[in-house]
Amino acid sequence: MKIKVNENFDNLKPSYLFSETAQRARKYRAEHPDQKVISLGIGDVTQPLAPTVIKAMQKAVQEMGVKETFRGYAPEYGYDFIRETIANYYVNNLGVKVTPQEVFVGDGAKSDLGNIVDILGDNRILIPNPVYPVYMDSNLMCGRKVTLIEANAENDFLPMPPNDDIPSVIYLCSPNNPTGAVYTKEGLKAWVDYAIKSGSLIIFDSAYESYIREDLPHSIFAIEGAKQCAIEINSLSKMAGFTGTRMGYTVIPADLSSGKYNLNKMWARRQATKFNGVPYVVQRAGEAVFSEQGLKECKELVNYYLENAKLIAELLDKKGIWYTGGVNSPYIWLKCPNGFDSWSFFDYLLEKAQIIGTPGVGFGTAGEGYFRLTSFGSRENTLEAVERLDKIL
Ligand code: PLP
Repeated sequence: MKIKVNENFDNLKPSYLFSETAQRARKYRAEHPDQKVISLGIGDVTQPLAPTVIKAMQKAVQEMGVKETFRGYAPEYGYDFIRETIANYYVNNLGVKVTPQEVFVGDGAKSDLGNIVDILGDNRILIPNPVYPVYMDSNLMCGRKVTLIEANAENDFLPMPPNDDIPSVIYLCSPNNPTGAVYTKEGLKAWVDYAIKSGSLIIFDSAYESYIREDLPHSIFAIEGAKQCAIEINSLSKMAGFTGTRMGYTVIPADLSSGKYNLNKMWARRQATKFNGVPYVVQRAGEAVFSEQGLKECKELVNYYLENAKLIAELLDKKGIWYTGGVNSPYIWLKCPNGFDSWSFFDYLLEKAQIIGTPGVGFGTAGEGYFRLTSFGSRENTLEAVERLDKIL
C-alpha cells in the first residue's frame, strides 16, 4: 500500500513488561516443573461477581428475551437509570454534588482515558513517572509531547505541581497504580489550585477509589474548585470485579469550559459519534453494584483484597523494607532491598521463592529499583507467598 499511516506510533516504546515477565516465568516453570510458582503480579481481579449483581444481570437477560422488554441500542451516554444511580452515589456516598447529565457511562476507564484526547488540543501534557501506561501512550499516538513529573521516595510517590503557570493537561491517579500512593486533601488541593491558576485541566483517574479506608479524598470533586478544572474517570473493574464485564464512567462538570468550548458538550458529541453504548444487561448489573446490598457485597470483595495487601505490607514492615501502598490500595510498591535493580529483583524472587511480581521500571524510568506486588491473588496463595518471602528477604 502507499497510504500514509499514523507515524506517531513510531514514538511508542515496545510494551514488553508483561510479556517479558510471563516469558521468564514460563521458562522457569519449564525448567522446574515440580515447583509451585505464585503470582503476586496479577493486575486482574480473581473473585467472582457479587450475588446481587448476578441476580440483576439474570433479570436483565430475561427481559432481553421478551418482546415487550427487549432493548436495542442503548443511549450513548448510558440509560437514565444508571446516570442517576451514579450521580446519587456521588451525592450520598462521596458527599460530592454531581448531576446525571455530568455522568457518561462507558465500557471502562481504559477506553475513556484513551479516548479523551479526542476532545483536547495540543497542550503541555504532564504525566507522573511511573504511572499506568495508557496516559502516555494515548497521547503519543496522537502526536502529543509528554512532560514527565517524577514521583520518587522524596515525594512519597506523590508529585506536586510545577513552579510555573503553563496551561497543561495533567493526569493524576489516586490511589495510584502502580505505587498505591494516595493523595491527601491538601495534596489534591495544591493541584486544583495550580490548575485554576494556570488554566489547566486535571484528568483524575479514580479507578481504585473504593479501596480507600482512611480519611482521604475519593474524588477530585471533593476539592473546592475542582469543578472548574477537572474530569474524573472511574470504573467498576476493581470496585466490583467488572474487568471482564466492562463498565466505567466519566464525570465532566456541566460548566467545564475552555474559552467558548464546553467539554461536557464536546464529550457528548464525541461519544454520540464514536460509541454506541454499554449493553443493557451490563448497565443493570452496574446499577445493582450501587444498590445498598450491592455496595455492601462489593465492599466485602474489596476488603478481601485489602486483607491480602495488609499481609504483604506487614511482612515488609517486619523486614524494614520501604514501600508505599498496602493500605487504601491493592498495590504495594517496594524499594528493592540490597541494591537490586527491578529486573534482578524479579529474577531473585522467582529463583529463590518462586514468586512473580512486576518490575517497577516497567511503569517508567523513575520506577527503576522498585517493585510492584499486588493483592489480587487468593488468600491461600498470598499467605504462602508471605511465608516464602519471610525466609528470603
Ligand atoms: N486506570 C487504572 C489506574 C488502572 O489500573 C486500570 C486497570 O488496571 C484502568 C484505569 C482500566 O480499567 P478498566 O478495566 O475500567 O478499563
